[in-house]
Formats: sequence, C-alpha cells, structure tokens
Amino acid sequence: MKYTNSPLVTYTKLSPNHSGQRTHSIDRITPHCYVGQQSAESMASWLCNPNARASCNYAIDKDGRVALFVEEKNRSWCSSSNANDQRAITIECASDMFDPYAINDKVYNKLVELMADICRRNGKDKLIWLEDKGKSLVYEPKDNEMLITVHRWFANKACPGDYIYSRLGQITKEVNKLLGAEEPKWYRVRLSWNDANSQIGAYESLENAKKECPAGYSVFDSEGKVVYTVPMASAQGLPNSKRDFIDKVASIAVAMYKNTRILPSVVIAQCCLETGYGLGVDAIELVKRNNLLGMKSELLNKTWQTYSVWSGQSFHKVTPEVKNNKTYYKTDSFRVYTDYENCIRDYEMFLLHVKNDEGYKYRKVAGMTNPKDVITAISKGGYATDPNYITKVMNLITENDFTKYDRELGIKEDVSLEPPSVPEDGYHRVQVGSFTKKSNATKFAKTVCDKGFSTTIKKGNDTYRVQVGAYKKFSNARKKLEELKAAGFKDAFITS
Ligand SMILES: [Zn+2]
Repeated sequence: MKYTNSPLVTYTKLSPNHSGQRTHSIDRITPHCYVGQQSAESMASWLCNPNARASCNYAIDKDGRVALFVEEKNRSWCSSSNANDQRAITIECASDMFDPYAINDKVYNKLVELMADICRRNGKDKLIWLEDKGKSLVYEPKDNEMLITVHRWFANKACPGDYIYSRLGQITKEVNKLLGAEEPKWYRVRLSWNDANSQIGAYESLENAKKECPAGYSVFDSEGKVVYTVPMASAQGLPNSKRDFIDKVASIAVAMYKNTRILPSVVIAQCCLETGYGLGVDAIELVKRNNLLGMKSELLNKTWQTYSVWSGQSFHKVTPEVKNNKTYYKTDSFRVYTDYENCIRDYEMFLLHVKNDEGYKYRKVAGMTNPKDVITAISKGGYATDPNYITKVMNLITENDFTKYDRELGIKEDVSLEPPSVPEDGYHRVQVGSFTKKSNATKFAKTVCDKGFSTTIKKGNDTYRVQVGAYKKFSNARKKLEELKAAGFKDAFITS
C-alpha cells in the first residue's frame, strides 16, 4: 500500500518528532484532545519543537483547519504506545482546557470528514469502535476495517476527554455513512416481532442468534420476518388436572429417592406450591418449559454445574420476590427443561451438590426422614424468599397426605407424624402432657391455654392427661400438633 496524505490539509509544517517510516500498515485511528482552543500555527510551535518530544499525524485547530505535522507514512509520537502509533493515524483536536475537554462543532465535523478520508485513502470502508479496551487491543481488523483506539488505554490520561470519548459511537456512525458502509443487519431474538420488550438480544450473526434463542422464542431478521423458531420444550408440559400433575411428579420423586435419599413428599409439595399443582396462571410459562421449581439460570452455577443435568437453555420471566416484607418484581432468567424428570433431577442435584463458603448448603437433607426438617433446612439455606414457605409446604403435605409416598418407600417417619390406625370411636386426640397429680395437670393446662389453645383434662387409669382437641380427620389433628410444637410443646403427640 502506498502511503498518501489527506487533501483536506490546509496547513503543513513537518515536525522532527517522529520515528521514521511506520513498521505496521495503517489500521487504527486514534483521536486526541489538544488542550486549548488554539490555531494550527500555535499548535505547530509546540508539536514541531524538538523539546516537546511529541507530535501527531494531523491536528484540527479551533477553526476546523486540518494541519499536517507528521506524514501518514511515518510513526508519530502521540499515544504513549509504540505498538499503537506504528499502526495508527493520530489526530489532535483543539479542545477546552477543562473536563470534559469539549471540541466545537467545526472541529467535530472536520474530525468526521478527516476520519472518513483516512479510511478511504487507506482502503477501508468500515470504521469500528468497540469501546472495550481489552477487546479492541486484541482485535485484528479485516482488510477493509479501521479500528478506533484511545490514548487513555495506554497512559493515565483523560485523553481524548469525555466529550469526544462519549461521542465515538456517533462519530463512527457518521464516518461509516460517509463511507457508504452498510448498517449491520441485526437478528433479533423475541417472543414475537411486536413484543419488543421480550427481546433477549440482537446479533449480527444468525448463528449466534440461534444459539441464544430459547424455547418459545424466534429469531427475526431486520425486516421482522421469522427466520428460526425453537418450539416449546414440550407441549405436553401442561397437566390435565391436579391429580394428573401429582401422579406425574410423585412417580419421578419416588423413583429418584433411591439415588438421592431426598423425601418425595417434600419435593412433590414444592412442585405443587411453585406451580399451583401445575395449573397456576402465574406459573404457566414455567410449566410449559417443565420448570416446576422456579429454577433460575444462575443459581450459584459454578459450585454444582458438573452435577447439573440442565442443557443451558433459558428464558426470561417477570417474577415477584419478597424482601423485608415487601414484594418486588424483577425480570429473571429461568431454566428450560426437557421434561419434568429433567427438572426434578436437576433440583435434587442442586440440593446435594451446591456449596457455599461453609461447604454443602443443603446436602444434610439427604437421609432426613421428617418432611418438616427437610423443608426447614431448605428454606433456611435461602432457597425461598417467602417467609411462609415452610408453612405452605407443610400444609400441602398434610392436605394431600404426600407422606404416603415416603411410607411406600418404607421410610420411617417421625413417630408423632405417623397416622395411626383408625381409632375405635373415630377420634384422633392431640395430647400435650400427662400427670399423676391433678393439680400439676391443671397448672400445665393453664400454661397451654395461655398460648391460645383450648384444653381439656381427661382422667385415665392412673394419670391426668391434658388434651387439645379431638378430631375426626387425622390431617386436622396433625395440624393442631404442628401448632403445639411450634408453640414450644415439643412432647405433644397424637393418640387414639
Ligand atoms: Zn492524547
């Protein structure tokens, strides 16, 4: 390539401050701010002074005149980087003496014109501004490309000043327009063309757009035509009924227990709670993608990802979070699963393998036999933000008798939670204490009353028993029992 100089130059004074012919072909432009709104002549008195040991290829003075100080073929002394100045055309722009070192419109317009001219004469039809230092400095421009770099990347300086720096995107656009370079055609990933808010990203490469396109989304070309669609992970993700959902989830959780030893009752209840038995209106987007547990894409990924069975596909959804008793709404990225089993397995792998600084966060739940212990450990580990999470899960377990799935596996539960055989008179009694002396029973009954329970004292063969209700439905007796335990009466139990 033969080196030339710009025909826009109206003032020339060649400076001795340069390294002779450059060792790298021109593929960068580095604009600078020259502090002070000065004329070309006064800039020359500094930039051509050997003592300054500084120069530039071009300068644009306060009146928008272009000065040539170092011919394009030579390496100027401008950007505090030999590597950069060997391949860059450097341009000083007369600017204010203070932050943000603004340049006037004449200088701005001339800079755009000069950059376009430099590109054209050097065989480039595309100017590139990547903004990111790391990306820029490893970027190898193609034959037709010119890259913008800035002085501040090579020295502790504000140069080119925030005024120019913040406009480099706009400048690049204007230069490219002069060069007749085509605007890149973007491929956009959205749910539908009209739903711009659902956009996940815009990509120059169709391949990259396809890679980022999750289930239920499509890739649109710049005219809004669908060029690629990923169907929902599975249309049969939605259950027919509550029973259908429970049966499907239960069979998976039960089968998985043999490997993970995580109580099916708890996992089933969590799936039901998160999704409203797979039928909840708010959960439909999750259930369609087989994400029954609200599994987010991030989820401390690094510490357990080798065990995760998730494919990496995700989608975005607005979700409520409770913090300090207030509900916030935010957009989150959630995992897409191939089927229910894929989801539940991933969740159980998470419980077994996720770590924090103190070690495994939830692994202790494996082997636990009491559902409440399990869900308490999960909740305390920070899994759920809802303060009533434990109660909600326990209520679902009780209402649906999900512990029957645990029992079918021969898991011996906490004795007090074991449903007894049907009592003779049909009543399950909740007993909170028994005493040989009536006065002690009365005293204790008062303590229980003080906590808001109604008590009766029943006389047995040789004891006085303090009782809090008798229930036809075992589940109601168990609910009362839970309340008593929560109130501190740890020895309460159910009897026939
Ligand atoms: Zn500079």
